[in-house]
This record gives sequence, structure tokens and C-alpha cells, in this order.
Amino acid sequence: MAERLNPWENALKQLDKAAKAMNLNPGYHQILATPKRVLEIQLPIKMDDGTIKVFTGWRVQHNDARGPCKGGIRYHPNTDLDEVKALAMWMTWKTAVVDIPYGGAKGGIRVDPHKLSPGELERLSRRYIYAISPIVGINKDIPAPDVYTNPQIMAWMMDTYSALVGYNEPGVITGKPLEVGGSEGREEATARGLQYVTEEAVRVLGIDPTRATAAVQGYGNAGYFSAKFMKELGMKVVAVSDSKGAIYNPDGLDPEAVLEHKKKTGSVKNFPGAQNLNPDPIKANQELLELDVDVLIPAAIENVITKENADNIEAKLVVEAANGPTTPEADDILHERGIIVVPDILANAGGVTVSYFEWIQARTREWWTVDTVRNKLRAIMSKSFRDVYNIRNEMNVDMRTAALILAIKRVVRALEIRGIWP
Ligand code: GLU
Repeated sequence: MAERLNPWENALKQLDKAAKAMNLNPGYHQILATPKRVLEIQLPIKMDDGTIKVFTGWRVQHNDARGPCKGGIRYHPNTDLDEVKALAMWMTWKTAVVDIPYGGAKGGIRVDPHKLSPGELERLSRRYIYAISPIVGINKDIPAPDVYTNPQIMAWMMDTYSALVGYNEPGVITGKPLEVGGSEGREEATARGLQYVTEEAVRVLGIDPTRATAAVQGYGNAGYFSAKFMKELGMKVVAVSDSKGAIYNPDGLDPEAVLEHKKKTGSVKNFPGAQNLNPDPIKANQELLELDVDVLIPAAIENVITKENADNIEAKLVVEAANGPTTPEADDILHERGIIVVPDILANAGGVTVSYFEWIQARTREWWTVDTVRNKLRAIMSKSFRDVYNIRNEMNVDMRTAALILAIKRVVRALEIRGIWP
């Protein structure tokens, strides 16, 4: 039978596996296996040519036992309710793993934003936050960027929400530009957090980063900064990719020069001095995953490491910058093969952690330096890695299950203390 590649099914399988390992009470298991609230919205937009187009969007709030819901908004032509539900559940685990006072949520619009004009993009973004405004708020649910959304979009959303409530509310959205209540270090935060957990991981695995090679799949915010910070750790970043192709240079790539090239040409492909992998972009991305490197960083989308290619992964360490890149079946294969996976809910939690810092700063109107942000982030990420690694060793489970056990325990404890009411 073909492997199911539905992210929500995968998220439920991960929950089941952890629930079994920790002997989770079936009632709490049931609470956590369904989102608390799901909102589907119609988004009619006036296009530049005068026609009306209707888009569909969602906001899913998975759980808020530990604090207000938190999570990004994704614009993608293939997103759907099941994907947004999975991403919302993963946010609940992520905020619990790093122990910041939030629950989990996620939003999405089924749209290819690259096909919209700047005006259409702005109208769609304002319409979306307007449509979900009854359920968001600084103490209810705080959105942020995700795939194909950015600080400018967050600024439009914050502005629209502020107009609706009648006062300036920078704390309702994170990932904003600095000028309107953003935080230093938010842009690099996902990859900065990933760098800190990678430092811990290579230490326990006995990998010398200055003699290690890395490959990064995806060259958006998380991918580019991950490549940059792996190089900062002394690694040779030998391959990177985007949706149009992949490049390879055994002597190492310069991440900043690759970004300049991508900005100029629209892709990392044809970067001077590097070899293009397969001309077919899908195959090129598959080849990248199977390269003989020490560290592999999937930084694009879900379900890229599956039971079809898990046997071919050569890396010793996989650090998940993307959400949901490894299927449950692939997780088992990698675990059996002794490959360590630092799971998304730990590895990429730096983004939401600095969102938390931004939220605190927006509430207090006191602004931190980038060094303060980085130091606080490092402390949280390093401790979280050690907490998860200890559970892995004590319970003899893989890193993802260990992270889930830690997260579920924290969420269930909050549910128990608060009680079921009415
Ligand atoms: N979208 C990011 C994530 O998946 C960040 C979420 C946030 O900052 O709230 O973790």
C-alpha cells in the first residue's frame, strides 16, 4: 500500500506513538487528538483587473491550556485544512518543548502569493486578519509568519487589527518589521535556534563541526540562515536547493553569495562554480537529501523524507528546520539505522521563541538588543535539547518521541490543574 502523505494523519501517528510510550490517559489523548477550534473563512478580493476572486483560508487553534494560542500563517497553493490542523498541533508541542507560555495554532490561505500583485497581496492579507479577528488577540491567539508570508504582511495585519479595535496593538502579531514593534533577531531566529541545538547535537554525537559537511533543502528564511549559521559553526555547506533546482560544490558554497544569486535570477540554480544537480527540480531535491554529508537540514516543506528514500539518507544527523519533513515510517527507518533526527518541534522552535520575546517587548514597550535576544534564545534552546536528549536516553525512544513526551506531559499537567469545565 502506498504511504499516506497527509500531514494530519502523520501528526496523529506521532501522537499515538508518544501516547503509547508514556501510557497517556485515553481521555487526555482524545482531547489532544482534536483541535479545540477550527475556523474556515471565505476571502473575496477585488483583483487589479476589476474581477472578484474568492480564496479560502483557515485558522486552527489546537490547544490553549498553557497560554494563548500561537502560530504562523502560511500562504501556499497546496495548503488545506488537514495541513493547517497538523501545523497547529505541532505548534502546541513546540511551545511546550521550549516551555514558553503559549498553546498552538496555525493559519493558512490556499493561494500562490507569487501570482498576486502587491496590491492584491495586501488586500488579501487585510481581509484574512479581518475575517479571523473575532478569535485572535494579544491574550487569545497571536499569529506570525510562516511559508511565503513575511514581515510586511505582518505589518498590514497588525495595522488592520489595530484599526478594528481602535488602538495600536503591536503585540497581536509577531514577526513584524522593527519599525512597528518587531524584535531584533526575529528574522534569523528559526535558524539561530537551529544552530544552538545543532551545536549540542554534534557535541553528543562526537562530530567535529569544522570537519563536517552539510546540505540544506530549501532557501527561504529558514534555509538561507541555516546555511549561513552552519558555515559559522565551521561546516562546509556543500549543497542547497529551492523549488527550481539544487546546486552542489564539494569545496563548500558561500551562503550569502548564493542568496544574492537567487535574488538576481530567481533561483539558486546555475550558481557560478557549483554543479547543478538533476535538471528536474523534484529529482534535484531528492538527490540533495541523499548526498553523502554529515548533517542534513530539510528547510522546505512536509513529507520529503519518506519510507521511499529513508534507506538512502547518508547523513548522521538530520536537523529539521521545516515543519513535518519526515514521515512516521521514515522516522522508524532512520532510528533503526542509528541516524539522529532533531525534530521540528525542537529544532525550529527558535522562531516562536523569539516571537515570544517580541510579544513581551511589544507589551512592555521596552526593546532588547540583538545580543540579549541571542543569549536568551541560546539558553532556552540548549536546555530544551538537553531535556529532550535525557528523555530519549532514559526511555530509549527516538528524539521526536522524546520531545513529544516532554511536550504532552506539560500540556496534560496544565489540563489536569485547570480541570475540565463545565
Ligand atoms: N511559523 C513559525 C513556526 O512554525 C513561527 C511561529 C510563530 O512565531 O508564532 O514555528
